[in-house]
Amino acid sequence: MEDRTSTRVEDAELWSRAAASLSIGVVLVDADYHTVYSDYADKIPTGGFAERILLERAISALKHDARLELYRSQTLEVFGPPKSYFQLVTTPLGSDPHPPFIITVENITERKRLEEVRRDFVANVSHELKTPVGGIVLLADALSQESDPATVLRLSRRILDEGDRLARLVTDLLDLSKLEETELHQIHDVNLNEIASECVDRYRLGAEARGIGLEVTFAPDPPIVSGDRWQLSSALSNLIDNAIKYSEPGTEVRVTIAISADSVEAIIADRGIGIPARDLSRIFERFYRVDADRSRATGGTGLGLSIVRHVIENHQGKIDVTSTEGVGTTFTISLPRVPA
Ligand code: ADP
Repeated sequence: MEDRTSTRVEDAELWSRAAASLSIGVVLVDADYHTVYSDYADKIPTGGFAERILLERAISALKHDARLELYRSQTLEVFGPPKSYFQLVTTPLGSDPHPPFIITVENITERKRLEEVRRDFVANVSHELKTPVGGIVLLADALSQESDPATVLRLSRRILDEGDRLARLVTDLLDLSKLEETELHQIHDVNLNEIASECVDRYRLGAEARGIGLEVTFAPDPPIVSGDRWQLSSALSNLIDNAIKYSEPGTEVRVTIAISADSVEAIIADRGIGIPARDLSRIFERFYRVDADRSRATGGTGLGLSIVRHVIENHQGKIDVTSTEGVGTTFTISLPRVPA
C-alpha cells in the first residue's frame, strides 16, 4: 500500500516535470475546483508584465465558465509593442458532472506573424502579376482590332515586353522559393574571382550600351568560399544588375573581390542615384522599391535584393549597404573564407 502511495507521489512529480518541460503553459484544476498545477506564468519571458496580468484575468474567466460546465477556447491579443497572441483552450477531463479540467496556454505570436507575412505575400504577388497580365489582355484586344502595320508592330512589341516582365517575375519567384529551403544541396569550394568574372562578362555589353563602365578588380589570392555556385552567381548578378540599372550614363560600376584572413568580400559600388536613408532598412524586403516607376521601367521585379539576402543568409555571410542620394551606393558581401 505504501509502495503505491509513493508511486503516486512520484507519478505526480513526473507529470508536473513533464508539463513544465512543454513550451505551452498548463493549468490543471481538480473536481473540487482547486488549481493543482499552474505553470503558464513561468513560461512568459521576464518583462511580460501586461501579458501576465491579461492571461491571469482570462484564465480566471475560463475557470469560472468551466465551473458552469462551459468549456471555452479563446485567442487573447496583447497590444504591445511588441504585440503578442495567446491561444487558451479549456478541456474537461472526463464526462462526470463537474469533472477536473485543463487549460492550455500557447504563445501563437510567431504563427500569427507568419500567417500575416504569407497573406501579405500572396496579396503582393497577385498585385504584381495582375499588372502585366491585365496589360497583355488589353493590348491583345487592341491588336485584334488593328490593321495598320505600324500599330500592329508597336502593340506586339508591348505585348512582348509585358510577357518578358511576367516571365522575369515568375523566374524570380521560383528562385526565391528555391532559396527559402535554407539547406544548401550543392556545396562546393567556389572561387569568387571566377563568379565575378562570369557575372561581369554577362552584364558588360548591356552596361556599355547604356554608357556605363563596368570595372572589376580580382583578389590576388584565390578567394575560395564554400557554397552553392548558382546561388552565389545569382546574388552577384542581382547586385551588378541593380548597380547598372540605378546609374546614369557616363558613370562607372566597380566590382571588387577582396580577401582577409577569414573572409572573402565582394564589393559592388556605383555612382548612381543612391538610396534615401529612410529606405535603407527596407530594401531587402520582397517587393520593396524606392521608386516603383523606375524599378518597373528598368525591368525590376522588386525581388532582387530579397534573393541576395537569402543567398547570403544561406552561406552564413553578411551584407552591408551604404548609400548617399545622388552620389552612389556600395553593397558589401562578406562570406566565410575557406583556407587555401
Ligand atoms: P528591383 O527589381 O526593383 O531592382 P531589388 O529588390 O533589386 O528590386 O531592389 C529593391 C529597391 O532597392 C529597388 O527598387 C531600388 O529602389 C533600390 N536599389 C537597389 N539597388 C540599388 C542601387 N544600386 N542604387 C539605388 N537604388 C537601389
